[in-house]
Formats: sequence, C-alpha cells, structure tokens
Amino acid sequence: MTQSVSAPTAPTAARTGPGHGEQLTEHLVSAEWNGVDSWSDPTLGPYEDLSLDPATIGLHYGQVIFEGLKAHRRQDGTLAAFRPEEHARRFQRSARRLCMPELPTELFLSAIQKLVAADGHLLSDDPSHSLYLRPLMFGTDRSLMLRPSVGYRFLLMSFITGGFFGDTVEPVSVWVSRDYSRAFPGGTGDVKCAANYAPSFNAQVQATDAGCHQVVWLDAVERRWVEEMGGMNLFFVRNNGKETEVVTPSLTGTLLPGVTRNSLLELAQRLGCTPREEKISLEQWREECRDGRISETFACGTAAVVTPVGQVRDGNESWLIGDGREGPVTYKLRRLLVDVHHGLAPDPAGWMRTIR
Ligand code: PMP
Repeated sequence: MTQSVSAPTAPTAARTGPGHGEQLTEHLVSAEWNGVDSWSDPTLGPYEDLSLDPATIGLHYGQVIFEGLKAHRRQDGTLAAFRPEEHARRFQRSARRLCMPELPTELFLSAIQKLVAADGHLLSDDPSHSLYLRPLMFGTDRSLMLRPSVGYRFLLMSFITGGFFGDTVEPVSVWVSRDYSRAFPGGTGDVKCAANYAPSFNAQVQATDAGCHQVVWLDAVERRWVEEMGGMNLFFVRNNGKETEVVTPSLTGTLLPGVTRNSLLELAQRLGCTPREEKISLEQWREECRDGRISETFACGTAAVVTPVGQVRDGNESWLIGDGREGPVTYKLRRLLVDVHHGLAPDPAGWMRTIR
C-alpha cells in the first residue's frame, strides 16, 4: 500500500569492501587508430599516467565514449565476462554517434581477454566482488578546430568493486528531477558518451540535498514519462490480477539500452513473469503504487546489478513502493542474474564469456 511519508532518511554508505572505481588494477590495455582505416593490436602495459597535449580535441569538445561491463569469478574458480559482445556493439554505436571509428568486436574482446588474464587474480572468490571493466575511447588530435579528431586512442582499465550502493542491498530513495533533463530527442541519451554524465551531477546534488540516493529522469519534452534512474534503467513489477508483469520504459531513443535491462527482460520469463516494454508516466507510477497494482520498483545496471527502489520523492510529495522494502520479484531476479554471473544457474544463451 502507498502512503504519504515524511522526508526520506539521508543516504548512508554501508560499505566495508572496495568502493566503486577506487581500486584500479595494475594494467592498462591500449590501442591506436591509424587515422585512416585500422586499429593497432591492443597491447597490455602497466597502469600509468597519460601524456596529453593540452589542446587534445577530446578534452575540449567531448569526443569521448566509454563502456562499463564486469567479469565475475565463477564457483568453479574460472573468470568470465558478462555479455561482452553486447557492450562491444554499444561501444560501436556510441562511436558512430560521435563520428569516431568503431572498434571491431574481436579487438574489444581481445582487450578484455588480455586485461582480465593479467589482473583477474586480484579478484577474490567473495561473490559480492567483481572486476569492473572500463573501455574508453577519445579523440587525440592536437587541435582546437571544431571538427572530429583524426587520431583516436582506445584504453581499457579495470577495478575491483563491491556493491555500487555498499555491501548490503538496501532499497534506495529517489528524487524526481524537475529542473534538469538527461537526454532529449536527437541528442545522445541512447549512447554512452562522457558528455551525458557531467550535466547530471547538478541533479544528483539536488537529490542528495533532498535526502535521496538517486535521481529519476523524466522525458525532456512533456516532462511526464519516466525514463531512467541516475545511470541505471528502471523496472516496475505490476500485478494485473492474472499475471505478474515486469515492466520497463520503452526505448524511445532517449534512454540507454542497458545490457542488464535486456538480460532481465529475458530472465523475467524464466521466473514465469511477463516482460513488457511500455511508456510509464510519473502519474501512473504514483497512482499504481497507491492502488497496489505496482508493488515493486527496481533499478538495474552493470554497477548496480538489481537495486530496489523503496521511496519516491517529487517536490513535497512522496510515496512508498509496496512497504518500502525489497519485494520478492526484485529479489528473485537479482538472485537469478547473480547466479548466472557465478555459474550457479544455467546460461543457455551463452552470456558468460570465459577468460582463459
Ligand atoms: N542508463 C545509463 C544512463 C547508464 O549509464 C547505464 C550504465 N551503463 C545504464 C542505464 C545501465 O546499462 P548497463 O545495464 O548496460 O550497465
């Protein structure tokens, strides 16, 4: 049941393990575009500082794209990356959008193979830890002309991470951003470029000041449709009397097509739920929470995995989702996904790519 609630409690970090992005590993993989038609073979070297000309194009005009994926230690001790081909494809789409050369999938996979083979030993068998992989590409030309770079550098780095929101899975509270937009039609919301993220910091500061953990983004045109949460996709669990629907906002062009989102749409079916992609308005989210049709909401992404949302705040109004605690469908979906990561549940579609 929904109810009016007082201001959410201020976010606290319950973390004893490694924080997100804080412990970079020992190596870096690097490749260069020859300016015409090909990439050099990705090479493994020590993790070290870059030397950049102050007039590097990528620094000034934001010709920078990145990815985020994870490798996990499975129960049998082997290491495997989760759906790296999907991340390679999204990296290629991001490159096309920013007039950058695509990195072929084989090179993307070979870079991952090299880095995980070198630094994977740093990942313990603690199932709450994983090796987060960060591919990056930027324009390297020394020029302040407003044009696409000719030269590009690809880098792959990694860090050991525990849970994005700390060591335990606690429901997060969210703040609906009315002042800022993340993405707009014709923009870059459906790709992963660096320029999408710095403009979101102000909204996150507002959310934190309001005592919430994260921002919920509305569409920029009607300011009505729920799009994403911070750097994560959203799901709603709805019971329509006959079946349990696991619903996520449709990909309108202003949402990032998350690899986790896509995976959960498939896993929901394994749990006997009906996956749906549809537009959900903020009003509908509130009303359906109020009348009990929506009983759970969760966010998902490579970093956050599956994180329950317990409470929503829109200006002075706020509402609970269910009883504010993690619901059973959210729990089962997270368990199933994490079990696939660790080789404890079947992987019929071959999502886990073993690192030799
Ligand atoms: N939306 C945004 C804006 C993101 O940055 C991310 C993280 N890459 C996601 C959603 C989730 O995507 P994925 O499941 O591929 O990590």
